[in-house]
Amino acid sequence: MADAPLGASLPTHPTHATHATQYWHRLDDGRVQCDVCPRFCKLRDGQRGLCFVRAAEGGEIVLATWGRSSGFCVDPIEKKPLAHYLPGTPILSFGTAGCNLACEFCQNWDISKSRENDTLADAATPETIARAALALGCRSVAFTYNDPTVFLEYAIDVADACRAAGLAAVAVTAGYICPEPRRELYAHLDAANVDLKAFSEEFYRKICHGHLEPVKETLVYLKRETRVWFEITTLLIPGENDSDAELDAMTRWIMDALGPDVPLHFTAFHPDYRMLDHRPTPPATLTRARKIALANGLHYVYTGNVRDAAGGSTSCPGCGALVIARDGYEITAWRLDSHLDTGACAACGTKIPGRFEARPGNWGGRRRPVRLANFAP
Ligand code: SF4
Repeated sequence: MADAPLGASLPTHPTHATHATQYWHRLDDGRVQCDVCPRFCKLRDGQRGLCFVRAAEGGEIVLATWGRSSGFCVDPIEKKPLAHYLPGTPILSFGTAGCNLACEFCQNWDISKSRENDTLADAATPETIARAALALGCRSVAFTYNDPTVFLEYAIDVADACRAAGLAAVAVTAGYICPEPRRELYAHLDAANVDLKAFSEEFYRKICHGHLEPVKETLVYLKRETRVWFEITTLLIPGENDSDAELDAMTRWIMDALGPDVPLHFTAFHPDYRMLDHRPTPPATLTRARKIALANGLHYVYTGNVRDAAGGSTSCPGCGALVIARDGYEITAWRLDSHLDTGACAACGTKIPGRFEARPGNWGGRRRPVRLANFAP
């Protein structure tokens, strides 16, 4: 673990579990409608939205989990997954509780589907989180384990504290968010990994209980209207979203709408939550998906949750040279020049998009749980 200076100049910030929010409006029938995500929950006082963390209280929508976390851990940034953003560095990762999708295959369901305040073990002010990240040698903080869309106001406050301390703020999200809160959230973020869970409305409707179109809109928004670095993840579930036709349509759309340089990660599903009847994703499915995406012109296509040297490494689209070799989360070779945080192939000079420094971090595959109370002022 690298030693880093403590954020001595960080302002203090009180911890309040319930926090005012702004994206809602009153309806004629006395209810209030939450306008954060396309679910548009309509609530009477005392009711909670589908995400369970936004609630109607005193004729307004409040966030019930400001300053509360389900736990902290230092992870490799590759685990988010981000392959082109400060490779090899540790990232302080946390979540709260609740989610605005209801995916039957959820791989973090104990947190995202939590209805128990016990899940929120750690009181965590934004300044304490930034202080802990610096002390632990992290370069960034991730909102992960559940979707920051549902704790938007807290995520923004944490992101601001991180940026003030010289840290990057990273979202791991399903991208299921309305345009106005989306604009506000991403103005405070530096990088994101967005799930594109499938490329069919039927999958989103039946399995995630949501819709595909808002996710596509978020991806296009990020590409066209922000400077946020983003990568995409698709968890492949056998028989549900892994047909050649769907993967072909998805990767053609990414190529057309977002261009060849947005990294795409195909990751392996393991049976969980309400999808215990499905088998784990065979490695051959990930390899097949990667082949289709590369054939459609995408430059950076990765496989995850499996040991796959080729699918985990980065090659130069100009000359084919291996520029970053990885074994799992370990970086085993680095042939990348860096200038002003941009990478270039050391062999031919082709620009490799993302945020790269002259040398990668050396955090490797470690995972370190953190008690945030140890970093309180
Ligand atoms: S953020 Fe939560 S309360 Fe608001 S619309 Fe979405 S699910 Fe409903």
